[in-house]
Amino acid sequence: MTTHQDKLSSIVEQVKKLISLKQPIKISKAVDSHFVPNPYDTRSKLPKVDLSQMTEVLQIDQANLTCTAESGVTFSDLVRETLKHGLIPYTVPELKGITIGGAVSGCSIESMSYKYGGFHDSCIEYEVITGTGDVLTCTPENNHDLFNMIHGSYGTLGLLTKLKFKLLPAKPFVKMEYRKHSDFSSFWRDLKERCTADDYDFVDGIIHSPKEFIVCLGKMVEKAPYLSSYEWMKIFYKSTQKKAEDFMTIDQYFFRYDTECHWLTKTVPLMETKPARLLLGKTLLGSTNLIKWSNRVKQIMKLKRRPEVVVDVFIPSNKFEEFFRWYETDFDFFPLWIVPYKAPKMYPWIDEKYANAMDGEMFIDCAVYGKPNSDPKIDYSELLEKKTIELNGIKTLISRNHFDPETFWRVYSRNNYEKAKSQTDPHNLFMNLYDKFAPKNY
Ligand SMILES: Cc1cc2nc3c(=O)[nH]c(=O)nc-3n(C[C@H](O)[C@H](O)[C@H](O)COP(=O)(O)OP(=O)(O)OC[C@H]3O[C@@H](n4cnc5c(N)ncnc54)[C@H](O)[C@@H]3O)c2cc1C
Repeated sequence: MTTHQDKLSSIVEQVKKLISLKQPIKISKAVDSHFVPNPYDTRSKLPKVDLSQMTEVLQIDQANLTCTAESGVTFSDLVRETLKHGLIPYTVPELKGITIGGAVSGCSIESMSYKYGGFHDSCIEYEVITGTGDVLTCTPENNHDLFNMIHGSYGTLGLLTKLKFKLLPAKPFVKMEYRKHSDFSSFWRDLKERCTADDYDFVDGIIHSPKEFIVCLGKMVEKAPYLSSYEWMKIFYKSTQKKAEDFMTIDQYFFRYDTECHWLTKTVPLMETKPARLLLGKTLLGSTNLIKWSNRVKQIMKLKRRPEVVVDVFIPSNKFEEFFRWYETDFDFFPLWIVPYKAPKMYPWIDEKYANAMDGEMFIDCAVYGKPNSDPKIDYSELLEKKTIELNGIKTLISRNHFDPETFWRVYSRNNYEKAKSQTDPHNLFMNLYDKFAPKNY
């Protein structure tokens, strides 16, 4: 049996060999990335470091409510293992194939984020391979600065190989309540009140149109009078319009958006119809299938002027109303997924001056999935990025970016990043954060 130590040593060996090539490298994992495919991206040709074996849950400590797992464990595998002990992670991103290492390096938000932040906020230890092939253990006490900079560094400071994180006691079912509002003000009031009252386990929202706002609330329960499933023929996001309450098993609750990849199936002709789901559902539905297919057909994107807008933007809570007023007139794409997200502390990768202009640590994640973007005059991806920065928000780097270096380093802390980078990656094996995500030519 290959132990974690064996796998770690083999990756260290790979890193040491790759340094001699004197060019940046790319991470390869066992599952597809949650990055919107870019047909012009030349990074797929870079030499790869293979992390595909890092897929094991190593230990669940029931007494101390912690889990230790390798970085390539997916959230669906993780939840399956922790639930055997009646436990769950603090934050479970809604797509089954997101890995714990990818969630920490990039971003993660879901309906528990209103009180626990992102998955990284529940982490207490990282094992990291640096760009010199050294292995570091990072905790709040040991390599403290790096521990705090790993989140949001998108793999540019080192390779995460093992993570230790906290777990929560769980119940087997979730009772959902859908509270309908016909105007923004009452929706926003309700959402804020629920976050402050902290009287539900799960809080998020879907804005189906400028006249249809739904606060989605969930509580873990021991018993369920009936159970709904949204894994094939039924569509979760549409059910919130028709139902006032619902019951699901807790694992199906966590991945309720997975079948449609939120509502990206809308971009595949007929995929929301029953005959297409019956015939092609097993092959095409589910985020893992959809992402696989979009990677396979990514060259077709070159036929379009631009790909659809798929991105999460974190808007400071006090600017959310202003954002929405702009969004409904100038952007106008629904449904819009709304996730309140309270960072326990301001992250050091955000520039201090930029962070100071925010009003505290409460953000509203506005997740845009599939806005058509072929208008010859307006690039909606760029428009959304500009508005987000104007409102002191954070745009995640999961799809197209438009920043010039000056704007980018106004948002991200150059000082803190360069300090960490010089410690962990002096040969620039993992690329500089700006260069990795610099605008590509489309
Ligand atoms: C269509 C779509 C829907 C999404 N929906 C959700 C959602 O519902 N909830 C949510 O929380 N998030 C969502 N996301 C965002 C997603 O969680 C982030 O993009 C996350 O970073 C993806 O993790 P991954 O495991 O797929 O990693 P990847 O996409 O493979 O990698 C993300 C970044 O981390 C780096 N990285 C990956 N593994 C490692 C490692 N072991 N060590 C160092 N660096 C590493 C990669 O180089 C890359 O820069 C969505 C994204 C997309 C595109």
